[in-house]
Amino acid sequence: MSRYDEQHDDLAADATSRVSPYLHFGALSPVELARQARAQGGPGVEASVRRLCWRDFHHQVLAARPESSVRDYRTRHDRWRTEDEAAEDIAAWREGRTGYPVVDAAMRQLRHEGWMHNRGRLLVAGFLTRTLYVDWRIGARHFPDLLVDGDIVNNQLNWQWAAGTGTDTRPHRVLNPVLQGRRYDPSGAYVRRWVPELQDMDDRAVHEPWRLPEDRRAGLRHPAPLIGLADGAARFRHARGRVWGATRRTQASAYLPPLRSPWLSRRRPLPAVLLELRRPASRRPGDRRAEPSPGDLRRWAGGVSGSPDRPPTGRQIGASAPRWGTEAQVYR
Ligand SMILES: Cc1cc2nc3c(=O)[nH]c(=O)nc-3n(C[C@H](O)[C@H](O)[C@H](O)COP(=O)(O)OP(=O)(O)OC[C@H]3O[C@@H](n4cnc5c(N)ncnc54)[C@H](O)[C@@H]3O)c2cc1C
Repeated sequence: MSRYDEQHDDLAADATSRVSPYLHFGALSPVELARQARAQGGPGVEASVRRLCWRDFHHQVLAARPESSVRDYRTRHDRWRTEDEAAEDIAAWREGRTGYPVVDAAMRQLRHEGWMHNRGRLLVAGFLTRTLYVDWRIGARHFPDLLVDGDIVNNQLNWQWAAGTGTDTRPHRVLNPVLQGRRYDPSGAYVRRWVPELQDMDDRAVHEPWRLPEDRRAGLRHPAPLIGLADGAARFRHARGRVWGATRRTQASAYLPPLRSPWLSRRRPLPAVLLELRRPASRRPGDRRAEPSPGDLRRWAGGVSGSPDRPPTGRQIGASAPRWGTEAQVYR
């Protein structure tokens, strides 16, 4: 761990601790890990302890707001694309066929190893939610099916982070998988390891195979990008009201009719239909997208009891519930 601070984002090196499965199953104590790390000292070790603090932080958030395992921690009033609306995009994402090499590499690693580097998780989750504008819950359901460290707390809250509905400070930022690929896999070794179609490509070019001449590209058998990055970013920014020149009000009128309109005085009550339209998607009756089924809740909560009316509490989460005093003291 002494070089953790330099290497933790290097996709090809995959040089993080890989302790998360052991923490998840309770084979290792996070407090003990933090103690040993502190005893060893050094910038690398300090950086790894800071990562461990994220785990603790997410446990605290979920204990305080148990419903954030299934509902937006901070709603942005998204009308995400659903499983039905985006079936082909979701299937391509799950199978590593999006056409974006670093996203495909990470999704294929997940399928083959049940593992994915944290940078890869951030990238693929950002791609699904922001570039493809698919509901974060669809991705959050897929990960624990395959991940060896699949964990309701860290999975759900990191998905919310990636979707911009969680505790992050830059909720409308869209990650560019080409730039991220060049930055965190500069030699292309990670992509070449998991996307054999691109094995013969040069370091830099491997992240943008669509730039190859048509005849070389035809022989690659790697799919064309599902969507242009600019188009994906524009759709996301529009949905979030971040289009150039658009105000919050423009956003609201596109997705939620405004509270007041020129023909309605403030004092006059709003017609029921407008009130209904103004309700966030997650609150609309009959909206299957946002409301989790009782089955979903049970599965995401790893067998603990819960229902849409009564989500599982921090106490019910049991094995993954934090031990406040001791952990908080160590990180201080
Ligand atoms: C979309 C998404 C889904 C995720 N799903 C899970 C999951 O199901 N289970 C899980 O344990 N982690 C999850 N993470 C967090 C993180 O990716 C993993 O904890 C980390 O990659 C595990 O590898 P490591 O043990 O080598 O981590 P290291 O980098 O060595 O870090 C040490 C420990 O710190 C903790 N940690 C590091 N990063 C985070 C983080 N962002 N959030 C919370 N704790 C962190 C973990 O306990 C980890 O084992 C997810 C992240 C994202 C972006």
